[in-house]
Amino acid sequence: MITPWRDDIRRRGQLRIVELAGAGSAPWRGLVARAVTAFNDLSSALDLGVTYRRVDADADVTVDTYANQSLVGRASIRREGPAGRPDSELRVTSVAITVPDDPLTSTPAGRRRVGPGVLLAMMVHEMVHACGLSNSEHSPSGDLFQASPDVLHGTTAAGDKMSTGLRDASQQFIGMPPLLLTEQTAAKIRQAWQPLTADAPGTRTPRASSRTAGPAGY
Ligand SMILES: [Zn+2]
Repeated sequence: MITPWRDDIRRRGQLRIVELAGAGSAPWRGLVARAVTAFNDLSSALDLGVTYRRVDADADVTVDTYANQSLVGRASIRREGPAGRPDSELRVTSVAITVPDDPLTSTPAGRRRVGPGVLLAMMVHEMVHACGLSNSEHSPSGDLFQASPDVLHGTTAAGDKMSTGLRDASQQFIGMPPLLLTEQTAAKIRQAWQPLTADAPGTRTPRASSRTAGPAGY
């Protein structure tokens, strides 16, 4: 399911994100900042219609950890305002991202903390959910929005990557980072963040494009 954010936030084209205590602690320290930069680079390249900005308060999206050793993050989409009343059109009003506080991976040499490259891909994955995309919108392969991607283990954690599920010409799995979004995923984010066309009359200057001639217009 693709659920747009409340109109005023959607019109802003920007989600304000704050890191709570767990996200500011190892192994996640610094990851939200890196993820915001990575997401915004993807947004610019793919014209997603939404960017993230880190704030200290009044956030739309919070990031914290939960006690767990898996590689499973969550993005809980909420559709109610601060007073607890449901948004009248059930649009997204806030999102709470949680990520495991002790993310481990099993390598041939034993279990250990997964590396920062995979944590970065996990964080951006949850930030894509926070744009308004539920689990049913996961991609089959090719980008960071797969349901349960494999970890490609480096010699050390620093070399760990998240698998795209696709292979290169030499049959090696292609890993991230660098982070990838398929056009399929990008189109879903664009759908959630497309410009509003039903604004109340008089509140908005007509867009230039609505008056511009198309091939059959003039
Ligand atoms: Zn997911």
